[in-house]
Amino acid sequence: MLTDRFERVHDYLRISLTDTCNLRCVYCMPDEKIKCMPSSQLMTVDEIDQLGRIFVNNGVRKIRLTGGEPLARKDAGEIIERLSTYPVELTMTTNGVLADQYLDLFLKVGIRSLNVSLDTLNPESFFALTKRDHWHKVWRNIHLMLESGLHVKTNTVVMKGVNEQEIVDFVALTKDLPIHVRFIEFMPFQGNLWEHAQVFPASQMLELIGEKFSFIKLLDAKNDTAKKFKVLNHEGTFAIISTMSSHFCAGCNRMRLTADGKMKNCLFSRSEVDLLGALRSGQEIEPLIQLCLDQKEKALGGQFLQDYEKIDASLLQNRSMIAIGG
Ligand code: SAM
Ligand code: SF4
Repeated sequence: MLTDRFERVHDYLRISLTDTCNLRCVYCMPDEKIKCMPSSQLMTVDEIDQLGRIFVNNGVRKIRLTGGEPLARKDAGEIIERLSTYPVELTMTTNGVLADQYLDLFLKVGIRSLNVSLDTLNPESFFALTKRDHWHKVWRNIHLMLESGLHVKTNTVVMKGVNEQEIVDFVALTKDLPIHVRFIEFMPFQGNLWEHAQVFPASQMLELIGEKFSFIKLLDAKNDTAKKFKVLNHEGTFAIISTMSSHFCAGCNRMRLTADGKMKNCLFSRSEVDLLGALRSGQEIEPLIQLCLDQKEKALGGQFLQDYEKIDASLLQNRSMIAIGG
């Protein structure tokens, strides 16, 4: 079992397959000219497989593939096939642009649930937020996934003055669709020009939703980051990920592996442990995984306190979100 200093058991690994993407979301990859990692620095399929197996042998029970856009990687299919042979729940976070090409594979290997990012229901706003004209594609692919019986959760990063007015439209979608819409508070990462004034906190999201719908709180699982709710008589649910206004670090069971094979013990951790370099030079990996966990801070990577209005984002030491793997 992989345990940290605070007796949190870590059985969930998020693996980033790439730091490239077919979208350019302003909050994630704000600089169009951002340099991607050279492919020699990325984990190969075999290396992902070798490192993934070590984590599974040490108690990991859930793996999420992410990125960058995981499906933008040419050998994404091969990686999915390999990891699907592990005794874990395998899942993915994707922007959905290429999901139709992988639907048969998802079903064949037993992927049951996918997270799809969608920040707006308006094609023009989508273009403004992502610099790409792919809203209709994503929308169609979400419907294809639902029709094929997949459990679909959408991720919406809510930014004040940008898309908070759409929250109720997303909740309205849950009336007839068995979809699970999730709202994420805007988080600071390197280069994303985060300012506390752009955070639209969970309390205000609930207020807005409450003006239009009557909803109930659903039970959350032990390690859930999202607080789940349901509007009475709606098919789907909605949830809020309140990292900035009310963190959930006490129940954290997550570890991350970046596309260049660095282990991060938290989304906001300053430190990284180079597992890929160690693998390539024939070192033992297990002690390094434990070393990384031993450095895990109690909350928020030890980088900021809960009062998000006092955060000076210029002092944070971290990668950009696209290079971490969300
Ligand atoms: N490309 C895939 C996608 O967009 O779903 C996977 C990678 S993306 C980095 C993973 C998740 O992180 C997405 O749901 C995205 O909306 C979220 N994300 C990225 N930057 C964020 C930020 N600054 N604050 C909150 N969530 C963010
Ligand atoms: Fe790409 Fe996902 Fe980041 Fe958007 S959030 S730029 S889709 S990696």
